[in-house]
Amino acid sequence: MQETKKRARFVIVKCPDCSTEQTVFERASTIVACRICGSTLATPTGGTAKFRAQILRSADNAVQS
Ligand SMILES: [Zn+2]
Repeated sequence: MQETKKRARFVIVKCPDCSTEQTVFERASTIVACRICGSTLATPTGGTAKFRAQILRSADNAVQS
């Protein structure tokens, strides 16, 4: 498995259960849950999080809270 070194970034994901779009840190260190339905969107792996939600696009310069 090849993985080039790149800086962490934010990505916009779509919840598989309620279709809410949410900004998530790519290297999340805790489980990320959907803010609407509570469904798990990403789980930490020690590196780039494993995403259960669909990644729509990078959110590098569009981080919103
Ligand atoms: Zn949801």
